[in-house]
Amino acid sequence: MASDLLSPAEIPTVGDLYRQKRLQHYHSQVEPSKTLNGIISFIRNDITKLKVDCIVNAANSSLLGGGGVDGAIHRAAGESLLAECAALDGCDPGDAKITSAYELPCKKVIHTVGPIYMHEDSPDQTLRSCYRRSLEVAVENSMKSIAFAAISTGVYRYPSDEAAEIASEETRKFLDMPVNNGKLERVIFCNFVEKDMESYEWKIPQFFPPTPEELGQTNGTST
Ligand code: ADP
Repeated sequence: MASDLLSPAEIPTVGDLYRQKRLQHYHSQVEPSKTLNGIISFIRNDITKLKVDCIVNAANSSLLGGGGVDGAIHRAAGESLLAECAALDGCDPGDAKITSAYELPCKKVIHTVGPIYMHEDSPDQTLRSCYRRSLEVAVENSMKSIAFAAISTGVYRYPSDEAAEIASEETRKFLDMPVNNGKLERVIFCNFVEKDMESYEWKIPQFFPPTPEELGQTNGTST
């Protein structure tokens, strides 16, 4: 039987999607980057099937497991994950903590706690912090590839479009920092439902616009 696991090499990048004319784009104020478009992907898949260095779990502040993607990750990882999480003493909203991945195909799990949309005064600041801290923790632990679940867009009810914009913008900011150059080879936004896919299709090109070469317009001089 063919493996149902997906490795980064099997997942098209944003640059691939532009070249294959599978991703629309509109005006963007942001500078196109061939390098960054070769790092970013968004797909619709079960995150527990990704053979990346680390996946990012939408956990709750107890870190003791829950429903949604958290439940799926704990089921696939096995009971040892819960035991390691129990020793971490929880996690604040906007922060991120890393554990082993046990029976999952990835190497590590980063657990971040997103905002409950209706419960916070500034849920956007907390969600930004989730993406920033997860990326920082990944780099601190020498991870080269990272896949994010769509944090807070399930039971926590963060609107998908706003969440996809925050995820894209914070990732762009992080990757643009000179200190982070060359650290992450792949950043994959892993969606489970169609509404989140549609949001990424709309928001990604605003923060990762195509280079002229990716549009087939020139032989390209951009970085
Ligand atoms: P939150 O409480 O942060 O909203 P949820 O787990 O309810 O967390 O939802 C977060 C996102 O995870 C949702 O977009 C949901 O569709 C998605 N999701 C659920 N199961 C999986 C899975 N196995 N793989 C990837 N994403 C998943």
